[in-house]
Amino acid sequence: RQHVVEGGGYTFYVSEMYQGYLASKALMRDLKQATEAGEFQLVYQPKIDLATQRLAGLEALIRWRHPEKGLIGPAAFIAEAERSGMIVPIGAWVFAEACRQLKAWNNAGLRMPTVAVNLSPVQLKQADLVEQFRDTLKRYDIKPAQLELEVTESTFIDDIGASSVTLQQLRDLGVCVAIDDFGTGYSSLTYLQRLPVDRLKLDRSFVTALEASAQTERIVEAIITLSHGLGLRVIAEGVETEQQLTMLRAKGCDEVQGFWFSKPLMADELIAWLKARTSTASDLG
Ligand code: C2E
Ligand code: MG
Ligand code: MG
Ligand code: MG
Repeated sequence: RQHVVEGGGYTFYVSEMYQGYLASKALMRDLKQATEAGEFQLVYQPKIDLATQRLAGLEALIRWRHPEKGLIGPAAFIAEAERSGMIVPIGAWVFAEACRQLKAWNNAGLRMPTVAVNLSPVQLKQADLVEQFRDTLKRYDIKPAQLELEVTESTFIDDIGASSVTLQQLRDLGVCVAIDDFGTGYSSLTYLQRLPVDRLKLDRSFVTALEASAQTERIVEAIITLSHGLGLRVIAEGVETEQQLTMLRAKGCDEVQGFWFSKPLMADELIAWLKARTSTASDLG
């Protein structure tokens, strides 16, 4: 069925657009309800230090346990959550949940490494973000150094000045900041010297292309050299094969994350995974 949309003197027949609108309205309503009903959960993916082979950190990734639709990944709802502003309460929940989990691990005597949380550009624009994070850290008695924030390059497109100021305030608080998916956005290398960040996450697309493309190899080498020159640690995401791992290690990459080591795990699965590893004892401290 076609629906008529009038505006600006034009008439469009846009059934798909209208359906999209309906779908997003429904999605927004669902997201609101999910936030209130506590349908979100975090899974954790290990990051491995290539020099020591030990667990270097975790990335917290959101999942939505929809009562009817089952498990939904972030690709299906984060963009809409950002458009509708729902990412603000959802993002606050993510940060608090990561802190709550860290506190539970701390209480259980497990020495867990830094947990990284993805931060939406929309969240970064909230005037009270720094205060909110400071309060949450305090509420759960978590040292800021146990948290890391991952931001994508798109964060800086609108206003590099304003986003840099907020990121610096977050770093002053004591949390680490990483550029996520590096190399996919409209990255300018000169950005790198202006951004207040500690780490750079090389996008999965480079890792995927590494084995087949000598050009990609050169680019990855250059990014690693440049990052090290600027005092940034480099972590490669999406490592799925031993060959990729070997190549990244040879190029001086600091850390890796990917299905080769583990997919994102629920908190209890993560503990089981750690226990099953040969270097278990050293990882768990
Ligand atoms: P990201 O931050 O770049 O996270 C890495 C994504 O790659 C995750 O997808 C992870 O499951 C996936 N991945 C990890 N290793 C491999 C691998 O070896 N191969 C392949 N093919 N994929 C791998 P996920 O969990 O579906 O998340 C997708 C994106 O959604 C994230 O990309 C991030 O941008 C966003 N996201 C996830 N959780 C949150 C959140 O709590 N808040 C916000 N704002 N965004 C989130
Ligand atoms: Mg990330
Ligand atoms: Mg990433
Ligand atoms: Mg990515």
